[in-house]
Amino acid sequence: MLDAIVQAIAERRLAPGIKLAEEQLAEIFGLNRARIRKVLLVLSQRRIVQLSPNRGATVARPTAKETREVFQARRLIEAELVRLVAALPGPQREAAIASLRTHLAAEHQAIEIGDRNAEVRLSGLFHLRLAQAAGNSIFSSILRDLIAQSSLAVSAHATGHQLDCSLREHDSIVDALAASDTAGALSLSLAHLIHIEAALALNKQEGTDLVAIFSTIRPAVRKRVEI
Ligand SMILES: [Zn+2]
Repeated sequence: MLDAIVQAIAERRLAPGIKLAEEQLAEIFGLNRARIRKVLLVLSQRRIVQLSPNRGATVARPTAKETREVFQARRLIEAELVRLVAALPGPQREAAIASLRTHLAAEHQAIEIGDRNAEVRLSGLFHLRLAQAAGNSIFSSILRDLIAQSSLAVSAHATGHQLDCSLREHDSIVDALAASDTAGALSLSLAHLIHIEAALALNKQEGTDLVAIFSTIRPAVRKRVEI
């Protein structure tokens, strides 16, 4: 169930704010409610689900600040991943690049056949493949959550129908690694993350949360304002 929810988020089939009703989930996944609550708690610790006493569990909606923090963390980790892959001994590096190329072929194919869900999921997965190629399981597990959070951030803050990842940019990163151009791969990787973040409208006022906007107004005054 946990993986199914994370995957649905990675494919943007589950948008921020969607209610995750325990009863329904128990029915869908054939689990008891105690187990469902446990999974939702784990997902909330991973900042993928938000738990609130009144509304229960909902898919998390990263704020602009949280989104910036996610991308700050990704820039740091993914630069190190590129350095690690570039520093692998010859045969290992070649195997890593071959596996990244296999992944890129799958990304290209998803676009060709118009499989939008696979396209979105695979574009996020490219970054995880890089972590796996670097052979660092800690980075892989941190990045898995950062990618899910990025996916939610794109759903919450995207300005149009743009994809969060450009496949052309993924190709260029792998090309630079294959050419032993570490500096080039690093700058392409950072530019790629900057492009994704720049496509989001993080500076506009978050205008949907009326309570936050009027938080300085005391309840009594708020009542008069309503009148
Ligand atoms: Zn990407």
